[in-house]
Amino acid sequence: MSVSPLHPAFAALAETLGDRLLTPASPDLGTLAATVFDGEPRVPAVLTRPRTTGEVSGVVRAARAAGLPLTVRSGGHSYARSSLLDGGVVLDLRLMDEIRIDPEARTGHAQGGASAGAYTTAAGEHGLATGFGDTGSVGIAGLTLGGGVGFLSRRDGLTLDNLLGAEVVLADGEVVETGPDVEPDLFWALRGGSAGTGVVTRLDLRLTEAADVVGGFIAWRPDPEVVGDVVTAIAQAPDELSGMVNVMLAPPAPFLPAEVHGQPLVMALVCWSGAPEAADDVLAPLRAHAPLVDLVEPKPYPAMFEGGGPETAGMHAAVETGFTGVPDVDTAVAMIDAVRAAPAGAAVFNLRVMGGAIARVGAGETAFAHRDRAVMATVAGLTPDPAKEAEVRSWVSASAARIAADRGPAYVNFLPGTGPEQLARAYPGATGERLRAVRAKYGTLGSPA
Ligand SMILES: Cc1cc2nc3c(=O)[nH]c(=O)nc-3n(C[C@H](O)[C@H](O)[C@H](O)COP(=O)(O)OP(=O)(O)OC[C@H]3O[C@@H](n4cnc5c(N)ncnc54)[C@H](O)[C@@H]3O)c2cc1C
Repeated sequence: MSVSPLHPAFAALAETLGDRLLTPASPDLGTLAATVFDGEPRVPAVLTRPRTTGEVSGVVRAARAAGLPLTVRSGGHSYARSSLLDGGVVLDLRLMDEIRIDPEARTGHAQGGASAGAYTTAAGEHGLATGFGDTGSVGIAGLTLGGGVGFLSRRDGLTLDNLLGAEVVLADGEVVETGPDVEPDLFWALRGGSAGTGVVTRLDLRLTEAADVVGGFIAWRPDPEVVGDVVTAIAQAPDELSGMVNVMLAPPAPFLPAEVHGQPLVMALVCWSGAPEAADDVLAPLRAHAPLVDLVEPKPYPAMFEGGGPETAGMHAAVETGFTGVPDVDTAVAMIDAVRAAPAGAAVFNLRVMGGAIARVGAGETAFAHRDRAVMATVAGLTPDPAKEAEVRSWVSASAARIAADRGPAYVNFLPGTGPEQLARAYPGATGERLRAVRAKYGTLGSPA
C-alpha cells in the first residue's frame, strides 16, 4: 500500500505525540480506529490520541491547516459510525478519561473520553449518580451531546439537562469555557446538538442521590396486550420510575427458559429510584400480567449497568428511530410478527417511555426539541455476518415503517446516519435554525476555515 506523506502540520505534531499519532502505516491503526459497530472499511489518514486539552487544540489546528475533515471519537458507540472517518482525522479522546466526583458540591467532572460506566462506579461510591443511558461502555460525551435517555431520565431529565458546564476546543483550536452564563449560545448547542460544535474536553455534570434502586428485567410471553399496558404503567407511574419495553427475539440468556430462546418476547428494563418501600406498589401494574421472569430487585444503582445487553462489539448494526404513542394491540401484533420473521438473532423494537422531568424542559431551552413526545421507538437488528447486513437493514426499514418510526422527528443518537435528511429530523424548525446560527458563530468542527 502506498502511504501519502504527512502534511507538514501533522509532521510537526508527530514530534510531540510520538506513537500517539498513527497513520495507515502504523500497525495498530486498524485496532485503534475500530468503532463498536463494524461496517464498510474506513481508513483514517491520521488518528491522534491526545492527553491534554492543549494537544487536542493542536490536532484541531493541524487538521484545519491540512484541509482534512476531522471527527472526534469517545466511546465509539455511534450507530452511524460517525467517530470513524475515511481519509480524515480521528481525534481519539480515550486517553482523556479522568473522572472527578465532588460529593460536597454534588458535581461530577469527566474528561471527554470517559465512559458512563466508569463515572457511575466512581459516583456510586458516594451514593450519587448522573443519569446516562443503559450501557456502561457508552462515552459520556457522545451520549450527553445528543441527549442521554436512561434509568433516571423521568426523575432527573436527560443527561444533557444535567450538564452544568464544559470546556470546549472550538473549530479554530481556541479553548473556551461554557455554561448557562458563559457563551450561552454554545452551551445551548452542546445540549442536544450532537457532534460538530467543537471538541468537548471536559463535562461538568449534576449529581443526584441514587444509592439503592429497585430495578432490572421483567419479561412476558409475547402477549400483545402486555406491550401497551406496560408502556402505560411506566408512563403513569411517579417520575422515579424510568423504563423501556422491548419486543424482541429472546436472547440465549441463562435467566430465560431455554424454550423461549430465539422466540418473540416482551421484556421491560425498569429502574425505580424513589423510596424503596414504595417499589412494590409502583411495580404492581407491571406485575399484573404474569411475568415469565421477574428480575426486578433492590440493588446499588451502578449494578443497573451489569449484563443483560446484546453483544455489540464487531456487529453490523441496522437501526431506525422515531417517536410514537402508546402502542395499541394491532401495533403490538405487528411488532411481535415482525420479530418472529427477523433475519437476525438480535432484533428488537425498543420503546423508551418519555415524560416526567424530560417533558418539564421547554422545547427551545436546549437543542433537544422532542420534549413532548410520549415514546421513543427504535428498531434495531444486529448481525456478525457482513453478507447479511443488507437483509437486516431492509428488515429494520420495513419494521420501523410498520410503527411509523421511520419518519418525522427523531433522537439524533439513534439515527442511522448524519446526512441532511436525518439531521433535519433531529433538529426540526427553530431548533435547526438556531443550531445553524450557533455553528456559523463558533465554527463547525472539521470544516475548512
Ligand atoms: C449498545 C448501545 C447502547 C446505547 N444505549 C443508549 C441509551 O440507553 N440511551 C441513550 O440515550 N443512548 C444510547 N445509545 C446511543 C448513544 O448515546 C450514542 O451512540 C452516542 O453517540 C455514543 O457516544 P460515544 O461517545 O460512545 O460514541 P462515539 O461514536 O465516540 O461518538 C458519537 C458522536 O459524538 C461525537 N463525539 C464524541 N465525543 C465527543 C466529544 N468529546 N466532543 C465532541 N464530539 C464528540 C463523535 O464525533 C460522534 O459523532 C446506545 C448505543 C449503543 C451502541
